Amino acid sequence: MMDANKKENIRLGLHRSDYMLDSETNSLLQIELNTISVSFPGLCSIVTELHRTLINQYGNLLCLDAKRVPGNEASRQFAKALAKAWDEFNVDSAVVMMIVQPEERNMYDQYWLVKYLRESHGVTTIRKTLSEVEAEGRVLPDGTLVVNDRKVTVVYFRAGYTPNDYPSEAEWSARLLMEQSSAVKCPSISYHLVGTKKIQQELAKPNVLERFLENKEEIAKLRQCFAGLWSLDDEEVVKSAIENPDLFVLKPQREGGGNNIYGLDVREALIRLKKEGGDALSAYILMQRIFPKASLASLVRGGVCHEALTVSELGIYGAYLRNKDKVIINDKCGYLMRTKVSSSDEGGVAAGFAVLDSLYLTDK
Ligand code: ADP
Ligand code: MG
Repeated sequence: MMDANKKENIRLGLHRSDYMLDSETNSLLQIELNTISVSFPGLCSIVTELHRTLINQYGNLLCLDAKRVPGNEASRQFAKALAKAWDEFNVDSAVVMMIVQPEERNMYDQYWLVKYLRESHGVTTIRKTLSEVEAEGRVLPDGTLVVNDRKVTVVYFRAGYTPNDYPSEAEWSARLLMEQSSAVKCPSISYHLVGTKKIQQELAKPNVLERFLENKEEIAKLRQCFAGLWSLDDEEVVKSAIENPDLFVLKPQREGGGNNIYGLDVREALIRLKKEGGDALSAYILMQRIFPKASLASLVRGGVCHEALTVSELGIYGAYLRNKDKVIINDKCGYLMRTKVSSSDEGGVAAGFAVLDSLYLTDK
């Protein structure tokens, strides 16, 4: 796509910036910024409703006040951003196309976006896998994307972020076809790559934020949220990670959970990667390991309640929509709270490591 030098006038990003509370400094440090397929805008909204309802019913017993659980409208706001992008084309018969996995497990999270798109904005959504797009899709000479004879003006990716989503050339062709069309891609390929760990690490280098922002106070605020992030060509850091692997997380350029390396495996992997040399090291970044304070919580999974020491991760949803130089939306859109047993390194809910949770605001 860089060779084609195609201009994308409309950019749509539905993000989630994830944070953990560092117990040493008591500050929220960013885990990562997701720019593709951010999950749970649908389910987190109703889990918050569930918690509020329970507190309304049993709050006196628990000494809790439902008003202290902030409202969460992530799914409505994401649907609104998708609808606004759709509006930019002004083609009434066009649809939003959601790209999903063949055996989709997040369907009931995605459902809420489809529902609000239809009920609040009158927009129809179709669901397609990458291989279905390859079989049924074409781009007209004017750039219009047509899938199964329907005009598609917004492509919303809830798949396509893991190599497993591309088992054959067909899926890559589908991705290229959509990219070549004039439809809004949420995200486009370049916007997708901005969410990689490598870019996060490059943004944390001195003088890089200054290229994108002018306001010094804003730059300082952003930087306060950055944990230590290093490229593996920094030999000093690699050496100290081999000596103290527990203080670091080794991350490949992957999404979807389950790919990070922790503890003694960090040492082993770094020694192996150094031996391999060449590009092997540049496929990873090193990150300061964040240690949030653990607290006792009751977690419910599959209808069974467990008490355990837990840590939580806060995700802040955000939407961004721009047409040429005009920024149409740049806003926060609710939150995702995930809580997991403190002994687990990974954080995925669908992956089975964490449960959905809510925020409870206190005066302290
Ligand atoms: P992915 O793109 O696979 O979701 P993340 O960077 O979000 O990758 O890492 C997955 C999980 O690993 C996070 O949800 C978090 O629970 C844990 N994790 C990631 N980075 C750190 C870190 N620096 N310190 C402690 N835990 C981390
Ligand atoms: Mg993550």
